[in-house]
Amino acid sequence: MSKETVRCTKCILSSAFPRIQFDEKGVCNFCRNEIYFTTENQSIANAREQITNLLNEHQGKGQYDAVMCYSGGKDSTYTLMLATRQYNLKVLALTVDNGFLSPVAFENINQTVDALGVDLITIRPSSKFFSPLIKASALHDIYNPKTLTRISSVCNSCISIINIAALKLALEKKIPFILAGFTLGQIPANSIFYKNNYTFFQESREPILNKLRNLVGNEVDDYFCISDDLIESTESYPYNINLLCLDDPSEDEILAEIKKLGWISPKDVDGCSSNCRLNAFNNFVHTQKMGFNPYELELSHLIRRDKLSREDALRKIAAQAEIMSLKPILEQLGISQQEIEQL
Ligand SMILES: [Zn+2]
Repeated sequence: MSKETVRCTKCILSSAFPRIQFDEKGVCNFCRNEIYFTTENQSIANAREQITNLLNEHQGKGQYDAVMCYSGGKDSTYTLMLATRQYNLKVLALTVDNGFLSPVAFENINQTVDALGVDLITIRPSSKFFSPLIKASALHDIYNPKTLTRISSVCNSCISIINIAALKLALEKKIPFILAGFTLGQIPANSIFYKNNYTFFQESREPILNKLRNLVGNEVDDYFCISDDLIESTESYPYNINLLCLDDPSEDEILAEIKKLGWISPKDVDGCSSNCRLNAFNNFVHTQKMGFNPYELELSHLIRRDKLSREDALRKIAAQAEIMSLKPILEQLGISQQEIEQL
């Protein structure tokens, strides 16, 4: 993206963002949509009430109340703290190590689970599977364009693996809730909580799985699907809950709280990530392909909700990686510089 990028004067959405329109003051249609905010606030209030009822109904029945998708980043660290301290949930944390987590992220993960007294399971998919998956996600059109307004293709593949691993664990151990640290902006307000419906979900993404099977191989099923045996023995699916959306803290509040747990900010990641060294590559590829940074929507939403200043958001996306600095990652993934430049 060049220096002349035109952005909304209130948020940071750029002129390349799908369906964007600016008024005479340079304010985008997303910032002017007041009905959206009213609906969103209603959804949050509704989710708060329903989640309280669900927790009352299911909490304290088994060894664990919830599986938490725990990346060691700032948002999931704060959410893990909320879950254990504010909601008194017995949490089993699950980390999927994609091979690109910052060494500091591992220190943060261990520090946090110890401080909160939480059990942790770590899964690391083989690089023999993961590297071709990342390469395919970066170079090919896998996901629909609407998904790509919220997240980069590579991040989406990685998160899909985490979601399935968490669901598998919840089903195997009969755990009623799955927690994740998404903010409003990363997910729509009607997804703050929902009952998992694997069969429906699986059918709807069959075209995506077929693309991935063709590019990466049938091993995709081992990481993106749940076995028929487990599905057949399942009586009830867990609820997915995003507690962070109910608490709705500012970034400064999140950082202040998690620092008390001993969390420190990794220096080897880009401005939009607090745990993953692959993110700079993901953002580069996404911006190259789509013309906008994959964090524009989320950060803009946080600005509108007064959770982040526009200046801080611009700072986060300003330090776009140079292709030369991505060389070690490209080599690790078996991608040539030319393949990236041609996107
Ligand atoms: Zn705007």
